[in-house]
Amino acid sequence: MIKPEKPVNEAVRLAALYRYRILDSEKEKSFEDLVTIAKAVCGASMAAVTLIDAERQWFKSIQGTEAQELPRSESMCGHAILQPEQVMVVEDAQRDVRFHDNPIVTGDPKVRFYAGAPLVSTEGLPLGTLCVFDPQPQRLDAQQTEALAALSRQVMLVMELRRFALDIQTHMVERDDYERLLGEYHDVLLAQNADLAEQSRTDVLTGLPNRRAMAVALDASVLDADGQPRQTAVALVDIDHFKQINDFNGHATGDRVLAELGVLLRAQFSGRGLAARYGGEEFVVLMPDTDLRTAELQCDFLRMAVSDLPLGFPVTVSIGVAAHRSGDTVEQTLERADSALYRAKGNGRNRVELAP
Ligand code: GH3
Ligand code: MG
Ligand code: MG
Repeated sequence: MIKPEKPVNEAVRLAALYRYRILDSEKEKSFEDLVTIAKAVCGASMAAVTLIDAERQWFKSIQGTEAQELPRSESMCGHAILQPEQVMVVEDAQRDVRFHDNPIVTGDPKVRFYAGAPLVSTEGLPLGTLCVFDPQPQRLDAQQTEALAALSRQVMLVMELRRFALDIQTHMVERDDYERLLGEYHDVLLAQNADLAEQSRTDVLTGLPNRRAMAVALDASVLDADGQPRQTAVALVDIDHFKQINDFNGHATGDRVLAELGVLLRAQFSGRGLAARYGGEEFVVLMPDTDLRTAELQCDFLRMAVSDLPLGFPVTVSIGVAAHRSGDTVEQTLERADSALYRAKGNGRNRVELAP
């Protein structure tokens, strides 16, 4: 017996074979069909689609005899793939020096006739064969030989399609994983965004809502749930001579004054309004469902509370109050409150003035 040599490009050949992910796979109808046709066309009692692995020959499909695999050293197909471009025909294995003492010739299934058409990949690499064999010596005419070669190309086509389908499946799984990952990133981003939004609505120094948050609250406050105008008062609170406070006591002390005022504002208006830092040493207070008189009283109370703050130096505020008028924008109301504040400053500071 002469063992089949290995092709010179054996490593590349094996790598190509493994890319088809076909070794040890289940039986498949399309391969069975092609083997049935090959058997009929060549008038043989046995046929197979076989792939030549490193040390074995593995049958994707085999008919007429039972086998899963054989040692490569005993495989006739191992010889056939050495000439990928032609069909190898052995009319009588008993008379062939390569095979006469081969166990599949001397023992079951007692092969004498063999014809194998190499399965050649698109890169020109022989991966296995479509082969027919029989216990009787036999010949193949030119037509049969050509038909067997044509069928081997069909087998290769099915292998290509199969690999394509597997690749697509893999991509789909990868895409699902990828989409799941994207979904998770998205959730993380949403959470981070919520944090950022919260941060971007809060003034760091005083912990009060900032101007942006106040704008949203104002818009929401001037209309009720049914979109009807709702009584709302707005006050602008500005620290008097704050520049001097900074100049005499230092910027850090100025910051402490702002923070203290923040605490006071929050305490006084929590539950019945919203106080926010409007910018610099200015604050804005939103008083929903509050008429101008009540708003004035509340602001005067705030003014006195500020002047009583035990800071070690006098701090006072001036306040301008405006009642929101339906039909006006909140900006117009703020402008009216600002005009009142301007008057409070002009009239001596540490006082509350109302917008007409
Ligand atoms: P008026 O009574 O007319 O309001 O006088 P004022 O000095 O309070 O007003 P002015 O607008 O001249 O000065 C405001 C000062 O507030 C100037 C600025 O440096 C100070 N200021 C603004 N933001 C901050 C802050 O975050 N921290 C401190 N410490 N000072 C601030
Ligand atoms: Mg100011
Ligand atoms: Mg000021």
